[in-house]
Amino acid sequence: MVVGSWIWSGKMVEDRVLIAGAGPVGCVTALTLARNGIPVSIFEAEDVLPLDLRASTFHPPTLDMLEDLGVAGDLIAQGIICPIWQYRDMEHGVIAEWNLGVLKDDTRHPYRLQAEQYKLTNIIVDILKDMPNVEFRYQARATGATQDADGVDLHLETPDGRETRRGRYLVAADGASSAIRMGLGIDYPGLTFPEMWLCTSTEYDFSQNFENLSPIAYIADPEFWFVFVKVPGLWRLLMPSLPGETAESLVTDETVQQRMRQVCDIGVDYETRHRTAYQVHQRVAERYREGRVFLAGDSAHINNPLGGMGMNGGIHDAVNLCEKMLAVWRGEATDEVFDRYDRQRRPIAVEYVQKETISNKANLEEKDPLIRRQRQDDLRRTSQDPAKARDFLLQSSMIKALERAAAIE
Ligand SMILES: Cc1cc2nc3c(=O)[nH]c(=O)nc-3n(C[C@H](O)[C@H](O)[C@H](O)COP(=O)(O)OP(=O)(O)OC[C@H]3O[C@@H](n4cnc5c(N)ncnc54)[C@H](O)[C@@H]3O)c2cc1C
Repeated sequence: MVVGSWIWSGKMVEDRVLIAGAGPVGCVTALTLARNGIPVSIFEAEDVLPLDLRASTFHPPTLDMLEDLGVAGDLIAQGIICPIWQYRDMEHGVIAEWNLGVLKDDTRHPYRLQAEQYKLTNIIVDILKDMPNVEFRYQARATGATQDADGVDLHLETPDGRETRRGRYLVAADGASSAIRMGLGIDYPGLTFPEMWLCTSTEYDFSQNFENLSPIAYIADPEFWFVFVKVPGLWRLLMPSLPGETAESLVTDETVQQRMRQVCDIGVDYETRHRTAYQVHQRVAERYREGRVFLAGDSAHINNPLGGMGMNGGIHDAVNLCEKMLAVWRGEATDEVFDRYDRQRRPIAVEYVQKETISNKANLEEKDPLIRRQRQDDLRRTSQDPAKARDFLLQSSMIKALERAAAIE
């Protein structure tokens, strides 16, 4: 458990990379750079690492990257290995079952890992705190950045007042409401869904009631679609609000129990462990680079959680950006290589992640019985054809997106 904050006690030099935000993307960026000898300062607005329950699915290529970083083993030990996931219909049961084992020659981790995102940030911050070239600060809220030919100034609000820190580059990993992105005037076009999404969890074991239920299952229904995801000790449920519901009304006992009874009426009230209402968006920043400042993760793109691509895509941004930063730092490339970060990663968010997550939602909520039937028949046929199933899994596990990005010059 990570508590309190620590301050790097070495000489304050400017030649370092500044990182705003200690979510999964900021943490992966910090560890990748620091492990490769680049001094980093990471500034987190909160006074402890947020116990964030949003992401729980790690896709195979992300696990490969985390293994290269030396943290996959600890994470896997705290999660559930899920080679199989399902697409189901509330009335008709399993429509398609996918086995990631068929990707054993494409990845070292042919499965999804179910582990809450805070487990990753805790593992990484535990390593960072012992590294001499890392400065980690809690209660340091980025308010904006300015830059010149030689460096970038990050403006911070801290309990001791305002502060400005200078570095060679700045990575804005400060989430969807990024103060840095807004301060730079970078637009974040897209949409916000009218409905809120309820995420709740219980120790109740739904596999008693849903035959052959896999630990990740998307349940289509024209009136009431939802998602089951298992994390150690808990089943999590994700479902949309009804018209007129608010963030407050969605998490009352009455609403939560009523929704969970709709999933499965067990005759008594559920004991819930968490309940949170989320506003969900589909947005991509108009550019990922502004001189010495780079957007990564939710500050650059955000999408609905169906398919588990937000954090995974953000970690892929971090790894891509760090490769370029290392090359520049070592004198093997010039600053121009950073434009390639934008060229490679932005189209993935626009053409791939947005498209995939919007289509996942459309499949689950389709009301027209004919269209629903056609889509489900397609999915069933795809899952039963080995070549098509493999292709589908390469796409849904984000391997194809990474291949597409790598091919962009
Ligand atoms: C219900 C739900 C389920 C999801 N499930 C999945 C999933 O299974 N798989 C998946 O890939 N994605 C999932 N996502 C998306 C995922 O949670 C995000 O994409 C991911 O958290 C983005 O990571 P990040 O580090 O970019 O931003 P964040 O996780 O938002 O982290 C940003 C960090 O910056 C800090 N911060 C904010 N402002 C400032 C500031 N001004 N200065 C300094 N620090 C600041 C915050 O406190 C935070 O620690 C889900 C989202 C939701 C809502």
